[in-house]
Parts: sequence; C-alpha cells; structure tokens
Amino acid sequence: MVYDTVILGGGPAGLSAAVYALRSGLNTLLVERGLYGGQMQNTEEIENYTGFTSILGPELSERMREHAQTLGLQTELGEVESLEFGPPVHRVHLIGGGVLETKTVIIATGCEPKKLGIPGEREFSGRGVSYCAVCDGAFFKNKELYVIGGGDSACEEGVYLTRHAAKVTIVHRREKLRAQPVLQERARNNEKISFLFNRRPVEIQGDRKVERLVFADTVTGEVQTVPADGVFIYIGLKPNTEFLQGTSLINAEGWIPTDDRLRTSVPGVFAAGDVRDTWLRQVITAAADGAMAAMSAYHYVEEQS
Ligand code: NAP
Repeated sequence: MVYDTVILGGGPAGLSAAVYALRSGLNTLLVERGLYGGQMQNTEEIENYTGFTSILGPELSERMREHAQTLGLQTELGEVESLEFGPPVHRVHLIGGGVLETKTVIIATGCEPKKLGIPGEREFSGRGVSYCAVCDGAFFKNKELYVIGGGDSACEEGVYLTRHAAKVTIVHRREKLRAQPVLQERARNNEKISFLFNRRPVEIQGDRKVERLVFADTVTGEVQTVPADGVFIYIGLKPNTEFLQGTSLINAEGWIPTDDRLRTSVPGVFAAGDVRDTWLRQVITAAADGAMAAMSAYHYVEEQS
C-alpha cells in the first residue's frame, strides 16, 4: 500500500492537514506518538483562535481530532525514527520497525519546551521543576513559585499559577519582557505576581524536591539563593526534528525552512505548524499551515499521476 500522504504529528497543523487532505480525496494516514492536540493539551484556555472567545486546550484538541476522524482519518500510534526520501515513494521508518510508503509526507511534529541545562533541573524534574503549569500547577497550593522566562508563556502561565500558588515570581534575564502587551499587562496587574529582572538561574537545589533557586544578577554578577517550592521553566521551544538530523531539511537550529507553499528542500515533502522555520507559532497559524501543506500535497500528487 502506498499512501497519497502520511502526516507526521496530530497537533492543530497535522489534524488540519488531515481534514484538507481527506476532503481532497487523498488516501491519508496520520502518525501520532501520544495525545492528539499537541501543545494545546498543555494549555488551559485558548483565547485567540478565531470563533472561540475562550476554549479549553484539550476541548479544541478533541474537536479537531473528531473532525478529522469523522472524515475517515486512518491513524497509527507510533514515533518516527527516520525518513528515506524518494521520489516517487518516500519511506517513513517507525521506531520498532514499521515502514510506511507514501507519495508525500507532511511533517507537523511541532516543538517542545527548551531546557535550561543548569544543575538540579533534570534531577528535580517532576519533583518541583515543571514545564507545564496546567499539568502540575494544582500540586502547588499556597506555595511559592518561580517562573523562568520573559515571553508569552512565562506571563500567561505565571498568571495561571496564581490560581493555586500563594506567590509567583517571574525571573527574566533582561530588563524588558518580550511577551505580547496584553499578557504583560495581565501579569503586572496580578497582585500575586512579582518580577525579578536581569537575573539568570544558575542552580536548582533541594533534598528530595525543589527547595531553593539560585540565580545570578546579569549586571553585577551577584549570586543569590531564595527559598522556592517550584520552578516553572518557559524559555522557548525546540523543534521535534531529531529524526531529520543529518538531512537537508533542517536549518542549524533544527527548524524546517519552507517556501510559501510549505514545500521543503525535498520534492513531495512538506512541513506545517510550529516545526517550520517561522516567526509566529500559534494554534491558528498551525491550522492554516496544515491546510496549505495538504493542498500543496494534493497538487503534487495530481501532477505526478
Ligand atoms: P519565547 O517567546 O521564545 O520566549 C522565551 C523567553 O525565555 C525569552 O524571554 C527569553 O529571553 C528567555 N530565555 C531563553 N533562553 C533562556 C535561558 N537559557 N535562560 C533564561 N531565559 C531564557 O518562548 P515562549 O514564551 O515559550 O513562547 C513560544 C512561542 O509560543 C512564541 O511564538 C509565543 O508567541 C507563542 N505563545 C503564544 C501564546 C499566546 O498567543 N497566548 C501563549 C504562549 C506562547 P530573551 O527575551 O532575553 O530572549
């Protein structure tokens, strides 16, 4: 069996690609390694997906999955090990030995939180160090938390954490936040939130769980240790493209450059959503990318037949 398209990843980009591919009559398979919805699953409320003033991340995930499955989407639970490029046929090798043959591939594997790489981070992961406020916030009722980062996620998730925590301090390495003004304002107006600027975390300490955070002043170099019950890290994203290491598809940081039709450097291989080398990573842009990649795949299959 040679599929018309195999979509890698079941987030908003992959599921939207599936909807457009199936409606175009492509014989489509979607490969997902875990939960459908991607990073939407770790987001409490989504307030900027047009048509919904507010919708829970897991609910929007489920609606997108249902939509694609109503159209007859075939899915496979698995993780990609590598791609073997055609054309005319590309091969998707799955961990564990499965091989899928397809005329086109749509890579929509998204990205995941970056790590700080400081002592204590890995050791206390799941024991006070977290990358997901929605998943872990409720474990910190009336506790004192630190959020690392100065972007949209740090501000948004910092506000979310105040539902549970007694106090949240956002620690940023510069003196100016990079978050959207609306999110900055929400954080600044929250009386449980305070900010520490020009500070760089250097170590997370504790016995069996997080007890202290050590950071350095980026201007004076002064090192300070503060008591902490939890450290939530939001310092950006890294692409899920390990299976593309050594190929021409990725740039030096691992993101996939595309043209305006979402074609990659390999004919018949397209990329959509957060995994792409792009400047805006939102649910709505991922969904739009999915639609474009699927239509590009459709035209490619038509031209080849
Ligand atoms: P981001 O925008 O890349 O911001 C990362 C932040 O972490 C920056 O402030 C950066 O500092 C800091 N940082 C990076 N490396 C660091 C390190 N090693 N140590 C300390 N600080 C470090 O990441 P994000 O906030 O996770 O957002 C990711 C994407 O999702 C963005 O495109 C964002 O717009 C989107 N997003 C959107 C929404 C929304 O629309 N509601 C919500 C969440 C996320 P510098 O500023 O100095 O670089």
